[in-house]
Amino acid sequence: MQINQNFLKLKDSYLFSQIAQKVKDYKAENPDKEIIRLGIGDVTLPLVPAVVSAMEKAVLEMGKKETFMGYGEEQGYSFLRQAVCGYYKKKGVELSDDEVFISDGAKSDLGNILDIFDVDNTVLIPDPVYPVYVDTNIMAGRKIVFVEGDESNSFLPLPDKNVKADIIYLCSPNNPTGAVYNKEQLKVWVDYALANNAVILFDSAYEIFVTDESLPTSIYQIEGAKECAIEFSSLSKTAGFTGTRCGYTVVPKELIRNNVSLNKLWLRRQCTKFNGVPYIVQRGAEAVFTEEGYKQIKENVNYYLQNAKIMADTLSDLDIWFTGGKNSPYIWLKCPNGLSSWEYFDELLTKYNIVGTPGVGFGAKGEGFFRLTAFGDRENVIRAMERLKA
Ligand SMILES: *Cc1c(COP(=O)(O)O)cnc(C)c1O
Repeated sequence: MQINQNFLKLKDSYLFSQIAQKVKDYKAENPDKEIIRLGIGDVTLPLVPAVVSAMEKAVLEMGKKETFMGYGEEQGYSFLRQAVCGYYKKKGVELSDDEVFISDGAKSDLGNILDIFDVDNTVLIPDPVYPVYVDTNIMAGRKIVFVEGDESNSFLPLPDKNVKADIIYLCSPNNPTGAVYNKEQLKVWVDYALANNAVILFDSAYEIFVTDESLPTSIYQIEGAKECAIEFSSLSKTAGFTGTRCGYTVVPKELIRNNVSLNKLWLRRQCTKFNGVPYIVQRGAEAVFTEEGYKQIKENVNYYLQNAKIMADTLSDLDIWFTGGKNSPYIWLKCPNGLSSWEYFDELLTKYNIVGTPGVGFGAKGEGFFRLTAFGDRENVIRAMERLKA
């Protein structure tokens, strides 16, 4: 028996444990200090009433013989797949319901999708980035090349035509940078993917935070994308489903490689290794896409966006360079005075009692940068910004 040796190549992720340790040590020495956390990567507002009542109703159905549900379709109930199609239609994207796959979240599908690709593909990943893309490919033993985000491209890197890649990860609005590609930039990526016969894995987990109507919220708003892109989305950040678990993945039928439909491969993969999302959760998810449910989740999203705006306005006043802060719940700032990510972490913690996330935890190009999140309470955001201004 041999283990998968690729796991030994993973770097241990000390980021969040190191943050927790530093905060704990500081609190032990300064028990009277009140610390404000602006590093939370999780939502804090509860499920909206429309979702809760839909799930309550579904629970009661499960308790009666006439309405009890056992195994459902692995790819999700058609009522929810159709609701997702309806949501895309409002974005100007026509999908059929067998192009939509309901999942227990985007993270699982972003990792699982790799089952349908050969190990001998080269993967192109932006740096800095959501760590899941890198680690899942290290586990599989794939070759990774990076495309670098920095101040000069506002953390929206574009492809280098001389670099050949087969699988491309894009995340927009981006975690951690909050940066959002415009349509022209995404078209460059789509053209590059088509020219290289590559596949884009597009993570749109934060699409609902886009309020600027000129910005794309789905890669399928770009011509040619159905021939080269799979889109992953989630209700985690959009509707507070981080603990409830529900997402959706779109694999268009136009997506053909080696004369094989990737939609068929993914369906086969899911039917073999996945048994679907709970009926109760899918009923809750369906409610998100109703008029009432959507109105309610938008209120929560607007609350987070207003937090982001308060932070962005403060950073602008302080002349600190940043991306995000609008169309995203994240703010990605350049550490003042040339400090490294961890030096700035220590300064924020000890001088201002504010906790954020060091950018270097998201990749080498994150060094010297820092992530703040808008998922906290309004009063805390306001007080934290007052401390920074003072
Ligand atoms: C939070 C997040 C997700 C969502 O993950 P779930 O598994 O759906 O909770 C996906 N991508 C990015 C970049 C995220 O930050």
